[in-house]
Amino acid sequence: MVRFRTMSSSSDTGRTPLVGRTRDELVALAAELGEPAFRGRQLHDNVYRRRVLDPAAMTDLPKALRERLSAEHPVTLTTVREVFHSTDGTRRYLLSLGDGEAVESVFIPVPSRDTICISSQVGCAVGCTFCLTAKMDVRRQMTASEIASQVLVVLNDVYGPGVEAPHGTNVVFMGMGEPFLNYDEVMKSVRTLSSPDGMNISPRRMTVSTAGIIPRIHDFGREAVRPELAISLAAPIDELRDELIPINRKYPIADLLEACRSVPLGTRERLTFEYVMLDGVNDSDAMARTLAGLLGGMRAKVNLIPHNPAPELPFRASSLERIEAFQRELVGRGIDAYIRRPRGRDISAACGQLAARPTAQA
Ligand code: SAH
Ligand code: SF4
Repeated sequence: MVRFRTMSSSSDTGRTPLVGRTRDELVALAAELGEPAFRGRQLHDNVYRRRVLDPAAMTDLPKALRERLSAEHPVTLTTVREVFHSTDGTRRYLLSLGDGEAVESVFIPVPSRDTICISSQVGCAVGCTFCLTAKMDVRRQMTASEIASQVLVVLNDVYGPGVEAPHGTNVVFMGMGEPFLNYDEVMKSVRTLSSPDGMNISPRRMTVSTAGIIPRIHDFGREAVRPELAISLAAPIDELRDELIPINRKYPIADLLEACRSVPLGTRERLTFEYVMLDGVNDSDAMARTLAGLLGGMRAKVNLIPHNPAPELPFRASSLERIEAFQRELVGRGIDAYIRRPRGRDISAACGQLAARPTAQA
């Protein structure tokens, strides 16, 4: 397994960003700066409610304090390097972190609600053979501040600072990286984004997707506040899953499903199993029947994701007819299955296409 560099994005500047801090921590910071507690609360409102990412623009704070914040306490070190616009309205963001590393986030508008797809690591070490992110390996962990900053920066670009997203925001941890190999920072970012006195994005509106890191699935099940859980399955038999998602050798399917079954679900909650459809590899009716056998009796649904190809990847997408036949096999056996429409393919923003490239095409 790859060793991570542990440095945080702020170590090169010595300045710790404000995004990620709780209201109490910002009140404590105000005290440190010789300011009354209410200044800390104002700061909190500026960062999370109004999304003012430049201290100089926090006009309700005294000028001296703004100047001090600008010099010593940046709100975030994450900035937009480039935005790619898809013909379907999807936007792919190439973001710079404080140390020059880059990650990607994707904004996906749907009529009822926007979805922001965020990264949890710079690259990924899991090495799934159908995923472009795997090609860059993992360069480093992201901090909770960096993970949460993606949502603020993207919302500001789309709607402008201070403008509430008109129909709320879903957040999915399905960008670059394996969230459960950066568990603590991911969960901290969830607390930042869901804090009722701040961004107030309900954990029910967030989904963490994992390739199946079993010990962390158990931890996740014990969290008091947690997002929905999605598991990337990609194959119903170990022999094939070993090839597609190499950590399956460590965390095989039967153990993975047992861990999933142990997660206590809310009243209307279901697990999601993601299944990337690879032409001639995992998309036969027989595979669908095996999959249905595995998931029978679970409160779960299946999302069938047409493979998003790239020149470096050795797979083709299954045809729509094949995906529909696969879906029929599942539904006929009582398993809810949905076909995911690819978004942002023309700008390399779709699932598995994120590789922090500064060009529109993969
Ligand atoms: N690392 C996590 C989350 C990021 S990947 C995970 O693997 O779950 C998000 C989803 O994209 C996963 O379900 C993955 O199986 C899928 N995916 C990866 N590469 C893909 C590709 N080229 N085409 C379609 N889906 C892909
Ligand atoms: Fe990592 Fe997920 Fe891509 Fe696999 S599919 S390499 S776990 S980002």
